[in-house]
Amino acid sequence: MTKTRHAPSTLIIRDIHTIITMDPQSTTLRGGFIYVEGGEIKQVGNRPPAGLRADRTLNARYAVAMPGMINTHHHLCQTLTRACTAAADLELFDWLRTLYPLWGRLEEESMHVAALVGMAELLLSGCTTTTDHHYLFPRGQTKLIDAEIAAARKIGIRFHPTRGSMSRGKSKGGLPPDSEVQSEDEILEDCERLIRKYHDPAPGSMLRIALAPCSPFSVSEELMRQTAIMAERHQVRMHTHLAETRDEQDYCVQHFGKRPLDFLADVGWLGETTWVAHGIHFNRSEVKRLGRAHVGLAHCPSSNMRLGSGIAPALALRRAGSPVGLGVDGSASNDSSHMLAEARQALLLNRLAHGAAAIKTREALHMATVGGAECLGRDDIGSLAAGKRADIALFDLRDVGYSGAEDVAAAIVLCAPTRVETLIVDGHMVVENHELRTVALDPILTRHRRFAAKMVGSLPLL
Ligand SMILES: [Zn+2]
Repeated sequence: MTKTRHAPSTLIIRDIHTIITMDPQSTTLRGGFIYVEGGEIKQVGNRPPAGLRADRTLNARYAVAMPGMINTHHHLCQTLTRACTAAADLELFDWLRTLYPLWGRLEEESMHVAALVGMAELLLSGCTTTTDHHYLFPRGQTKLIDAEIAAARKIGIRFHPTRGSMSRGKSKGGLPPDSEVQSEDEILEDCERLIRKYHDPAPGSMLRIALAPCSPFSVSEELMRQTAIMAERHQVRMHTHLAETRDEQDYCVQHFGKRPLDFLADVGWLGETTWVAHGIHFNRSEVKRLGRAHVGLAHCPSSNMRLGSGIAPALALRRAGSPVGLGVDGSASNDSSHMLAEARQALLLNRLAHGAAAIKTREALHMATVGGAECLGRDDIGSLAAGKRADIALFDLRDVGYSGAEDVAAAIVLCAPTRVETLIVDGHMVVENHELRTVALDPILTRHRRFAAKMVGSLPLL
């Protein structure tokens, strides 16, 4: 275990059993190579040119290489309330009402550790970029996003934190308790602070901020409007939960006199810099409208199944023109941060809904990679091609679960999800030999269990 990330300035991964490039031609290579220089992919091909040398060479004749996956929706703090007994069998609104008081105990240190755990789980599942939608700021806790940014830097994941917010508490007709909402001035000031302090718009960026009022039932229309104006001014993206449940739809009709999508459109959010989480309860004309506007979707099949929320029209949205990525959404409504499992879930759920021919294994991987990059507005990640950042996942075909597989590229989503063997983020070796190289995980898990016990009241002793 090393504490510093080893970043060879040049790297060749050669003799790779299968490379799933996810390039526009959907190229698959057998026995090919990937050459990386300074964190950027310089060459991908069948055979390296004679004399090509690198500081480090990996032989990967046992591996399937694919682009590091991109998680487009998450709540990292919820790793502290996984499989919480009181919320185990509830639908969204009751699930939230049960968990809000526990989340009210969140502090900087527990946020930092929760983020490390969620990010570790993501990295070990082959995910190299994640977003987080953090909207909980209990009184006095103003630096929780800073705490998760510190975690991302330590563990070495590409990070798109979104500054979430809640301004409509129970006394104003919202769902969250008043003690967990902030004033709109406070929210907007902190959005501005985070953008100025952390947002890096440059190609290859390891950190970009987006703005993310939580949901129609926890913020005001005015906050949505002001957020859109600020996002435009700073050229950052916007994210929110939308059309997740029928309860939300009923809430919107009752409180705003309109459906969730009309709410979104009327506050100036219907555009290509917006991506929404869930998007389940859209009718046909709404799907077309979203597609025309290129609003992205973070499709979260596990969470939607876990909470019994419904099936998102993800395939119809893609056909209509919306980018569609995947979100593990959690970690208390999944209760996992395994990106490969999410890709498999997307495949299975959409086949259940629309038939086996409706979605190919490659399309599920497309959502987990290229579609996610599009949702986050990035053209430098999501595929293995010259000029892209070196975000690469290698899965080990020697794993028992892949034994006997003929089409090994399809096996990645058809067989049981495994732990990644090697993971490279921006040219850095973050996972080697199935283990994280950037942090020692065991002491983090010990601290995490302690914080979880404090938040929930008790946990079984290990
Ligand atoms: Zn969510």
